[in-house]
Amino acid sequence: MRRPTQIECLYLDFDGFFASVEQTARPELRGLPVGVVPFANAERSCVIACSREAKLLGVKNVMPIHEAKAICPGIVLVPQSPDLYRRAHNALLSEISAVLPIDAVKSIDELTCRVEPSHRSDPQQLGRRIKDRIAAGVGPTITCSIGFAANRQLAKMSCKAGKRSEGHYGDGNNVWHPDAMPAPLLSLSLEDIPGVGARMMKRLADAGIATMAALLATQPKHLRALWGNVNGERLWYALHGYQVHAPPSSRGMYGHGRVLPPDHREPAQARVASRLLLVKAARRMRRDGWNAGRLSLWLSLYGKDWAHDVRLPAVHDDQAVLSALGALWKLTALSRSSRIVQVGVTLSDLTRANERQLDILLNDDVPRRKWETTTAAIDGLNRKYGRTLVSVGPWVSQPDGYAGGKISYTRIPRAEDFW
Ligand SMILES: [Mg+2]
Repeated sequence: MRRPTQIECLYLDFDGFFASVEQTARPELRGLPVGVVPFANAERSCVIACSREAKLLGVKNVMPIHEAKAICPGIVLVPQSPDLYRRAHNALLSEISAVLPIDAVKSIDELTCRVEPSHRSDPQQLGRRIKDRIAAGVGPTITCSIGFAANRQLAKMSCKAGKRSEGHYGDGNNVWHPDAMPAPLLSLSLEDIPGVGARMMKRLADAGIATMAALLATQPKHLRALWGNVNGERLWYALHGYQVHAPPSSRGMYGHGRVLPPDHREPAQARVASRLLLVKAARRMRRDGWNAGRLSLWLSLYGKDWAHDVRLPAVHDDQAVLSALGALWKLTALSRSSRIVQVGVTLSDLTRANERQLDILLNDDVPRRKWETTTAAIDGLNRKYGRTLVSVGPWVSQPDGYAGGKISYTRIPRAEDFW
């Protein structure tokens, strides 16, 4: 395994991304503590993302609104505008690409780049060029923190470490040169390692590993044993500055979930919402060329959760997934007075759509192919007109316009996810 002697990786993370995009689009919000919320008049909901100004005052992402207001009475609450965030993401990507090639987009507000030899001697200057380009091309309200290091794991940690200091949040430009390692790591705690959560902290503590220094002093095989898989060993090499290549991950599932507006929580309304979410998820799954072997429906009611799944015969058309959803709703046995706070659907057990095995017992090939052709025609029409013009069964618009294009750090929606 290679151990770089120079900076080879850049990790960029936008600061309070959703809120800073709102501030760019709406100048009256600039300089104010802003909290993005799921929908208007959502007093019992959460601040899902907040601006730098709010973060400095102690507000955190995913904080109940009443708590955020107690900490910061002047917080300005703004309902989310997911499609605006998607467009901002694309505009920012093109500005960064004008400076250097993007290696991987990790989420809607994080990305990495390989640092080419010509830039390795002065990464600070490269970071400033990216920031200047964003300020000039998109707007000065959107800032980012950048970390440089020998590999992606260290660059991500360097980025995070440079984001927050005394009385300051964001706009970091932090370089961890291989010559200076591991000193910058030693001031961090184990929970500053991406992927190390409460459970892993406990397991490490039980093994007598409570500090970064103790973790670095272990052997790779020891971490492999503690993790129970190769990721522990991979982490050891990454923290020691080696260039580690992770295997490509395969797709696990397609799903959507949402919190329902307070006056749309009856079972019939939740069912309508779940249909829309499922059609959106199935559309994305088809776009990527997969069939699903399982559908799950989950509901969150006041005080209790309900979840169930059904097997599917490796399908991707709307008729197949919607009829399975109907069957799942029958199982819920909810009374009309039940109130559903959250609803979600997941398509999983994915197999390649071009490798469908015929289910001989089911013998559904002829109708299946008919529905697949129909679904392909519907997708084509909707794409042509840029909205959901045709659907299998009713298509009822949601009161807040939301159906599956939701705010998301890990998935960058496409325009069609908002139809
Ligand atoms: Mg961020």
